[in-house]
Amino acid sequence: MKSANQRLILSFVLALITTFLFPPANAIANGKWWDVVPENEAPSYYYDSILYSEIAPKLREIEVNSNRVKVDVLAESAGGRNLLIATISDPETSDAQDMFQEILVNMTKDPEKALALIDSDSDFKVPVVINGGTHGSEYTGVDAAVRVMEYLAYDVSEEVQTILENVIVIINVVQNPDGRVSGTLQNSANVDLDLDFMSQSQPETKALVSLIKEWNPLVFLDLHNKLYSVTPTTYVPNTMVIEPSGPYHNPNYEYDLYIKWALFEAFSMEDELFANTSETAIIPFRNGPCTTTQPQLTTSKYSMFHHTYGHTLETQYLDERGVDAHFWAIKGALKYVVENKKDMIRDQIQAFRRGALDLPQQPIPEYILTESNCNQYNDLTVQNFPVAYIIPENIAKYLLFNGVEVERTNDSFQYDEDNYPKGTYIVWMDQPRRVLANNFLEYRTDVVVIQGAFDIKTIKLNEASIK
Ligand SMILES: [Zn+2]
Repeated sequence: MKSANQRLILSFVLALITTFLFPPANAIANGKWWDVVPENEAPSYYYDSILYSEIAPKLREIEVNSNRVKVDVLAESAGGRNLLIATISDPETSDAQDMFQEILVNMTKDPEKALALIDSDSDFKVPVVINGGTHGSEYTGVDAAVRVMEYLAYDVSEEVQTILENVIVIINVVQNPDGRVSGTLQNSANVDLDLDFMSQSQPETKALVSLIKEWNPLVFLDLHNKLYSVTPTTYVPNTMVIEPSGPYHNPNYEYDLYIKWALFEAFSMEDELFANTSETAIIPFRNGPCTTTQPQLTTSKYSMFHHTYGHTLETQYLDERGVDAHFWAIKGALKYVVENKKDMIRDQIQAFRRGALDLPQQPIPEYILTESNCNQYNDLTVQNFPVAYIIPENIAKYLLFNGVEVERTNDSFQYDEDNYPKGTYIVWMDQPRRVLANNFLEYRTDVVVIQGAFDIKTIKLNEASIK
């Protein structure tokens, strides 16, 4: 019997050997994305995990056999492998899907109109994104994503029917194909994709940013393993970590609106998990640890810049029990969304509206503060945004790609005794995605912060004009 450490070292060595002996091949045989040339892969050491090369044929089989499922190629990884996206919805209720598209168009352009649509009598669906396998060596999330897909594609129960009448489930089955094949945390460029959202240097990250921007998902579930062998002091037997994370949060978020739903959605995931596996959840907002440092900008935390109810899920089990844990937690989230979609999306739109109208942030309500054992949440919750930023062109491109509104001056101007030429890039903070904009700009040294009154004629810069 090998120790956990020996097993880890062995997995690592196997992953290294696989990476060097079998460099990423072009896995696409032709235009048919489901024709994948098998290559040597490093599967899970702990259970019979689905191979990367088996995923595309499996998804194709599901797509052909279920009229609820459509599969597309989202992007190519750094190593040239496909990221596959499955969209699952009930085809009988396409009117509700069309209604969501109308809400979506207005959500960031005209939040008032989007709110009116929500409160009209029409029914609508809401999008939930499930992201599997950002870390290639954390196998269970991808297998869970495939299992959720099969469940939603084929199950004829009233429960699934109700989910698909209310929710468009979008599954990014394997966010890191390179890591899945080589058994590494990182992709083939040796980047931890979960921490790539500030620089957005990798094609996988860019693809996910595009997906999130395209859908403004109501909920985002990012599936991981928590490797307790690395941090043994936090180990609690038979548990799954379900964020919202512990304190303190990124002060840019409209956190009161987020936590109002995300916390109780986490409770719903815990209930479903416990009922089916007897595992409980560590919900860091509730259970701590009560740190004073801001959590890292991970995938689900990036989704929260789009006012998505983002959760990272980390099972401690590296085998089938981990696949089970993800499956049941996801089901708990979907059930919660079915019951609360209208109020949840109303607050998501309210968050965009706050930005658009330059409304102040609000503190976390008292009834939610009492759910946390960390008193850090009493502070650090409300901040003021500047009026605008003057930014260089390369940042303008980045922000536009993320859905932030950027303008250019149609004349030269002076600010704070400095002269700026015609065509200078400006980001006004009274905009729907102020949260995202401020997060990327607030600590930069190559921008100018405008705090006070500032009046200048600008022209709109369209995304299309950025090369
Ligand atoms: Zn992970």
